[in-house]
Amino acid sequence: MNLALTQAVKALVRGLGFDAWGIAAAHPLTEAYAHTPTYAAYQRYRAWIEGGHHAGMRYLAETLALRQDPTRLLEGAQAILLVLQSYFQTRQARPPLAQYAWGADYHARLRLRLQIVADYLERQGFAARPFVDTAPLLEKAWAVEAGLGWIGKNTLLLHRRLGSYTFIGGVLTTAPLLPDPPFYQDLCGTCNRCIEACPTKALSPYSLDARRCIAYWTIEAREVQAEAPPLGEWLFGCDICQVVCPWNRFARPQGEFVPAAHAFWPREKWATASRGEIKRLQRGSALRRARPEKLLALARQNPSPHRSGAIKG
Ligand code: SF4
Ligand code: SF4
Repeated sequence: MNLALTQAVKALVRGLGFDAWGIAAAHPLTEAYAHTPTYAAYQRYRAWIEGGHHAGMRYLAETLALRQDPTRLLEGAQAILLVLQSYFQTRQARPPLAQYAWGADYHARLRLRLQIVADYLERQGFAARPFVDTAPLLEKAWAVEAGLGWIGKNTLLLHRRLGSYTFIGGVLTTAPLLPDPPFYQDLCGTCNRCIEACPTKALSPYSLDARRCIAYWTIEAREVQAEAPPLGEWLFGCDICQVVCPWNRFARPQGEFVPAAHAFWPREKWATASRGEIKRLQRGSALRRARPEKLLALARQNPSPHRSGAIKG
């Protein structure tokens, strides 16, 4: 392990403005590593896929084997740098758009900075692959192993200071970076607020049934089908299981992902937008993951009421 290189990488990451970072040793998720948080997470993930909880996200099942071994993504990988970037703006998160899609698309923003880290590692003679939702890795589990927090009962990564409103990215590398101690605590304790607040009963402790999740139907599914639960006022994503989480009370608004004006459009305004206007708003936004026709169709339907129409902070 190279302490000087590790310190230089962390200084670079700090200078790039990330909110938190940590390093995990890259290893396969096999029984030889049964003591690691990532191994346990992989076992849960496999059972989740086998139970069909991933709904129509077939790519998750198709990449299961790849997710078991990061060295299959980068030959000779020795370390995974994980970074968190907060997108928290306000505690007034509400429909119709999930807060992560209020500002600029995080993929490009994070990727640009992670590429700087990858370029640095390559100049030191190592291979490096940056990722922001672009590699079949269990990012949340690796973030736990890198000491950044724990996976809560709402299945999101929770950081003690930043809460859950964070983007995760990283760099897989052959550089022998010194790993940080994993985060072994589960600070959810006896809390069950997210499970109780989920209007569609999609959550059980540490497991999400995508077939019941508003975020799945509004973002991932190509169309909203008859078996979808009531989606309430949401058009893109859902924040309820974050809004109610007490660990988000420490989150502080940040300046990078400033909400666009349309972030606060009511549903009725979306319903009267043209397809071209929606396509324009999707440029440079995470909103581009949904087809404009689907956004429009959802906006023009009568919202299907769900059990807890309002969300409380
Ligand atoms: S995103 Fe919404 S529907 Fe999905 S689990 Fe969280 S509260 Fe439930
Ligand atoms: S709401 Fe409570 S149980 Fe759910 S993730 Fe937050 S702390 Fe954990």
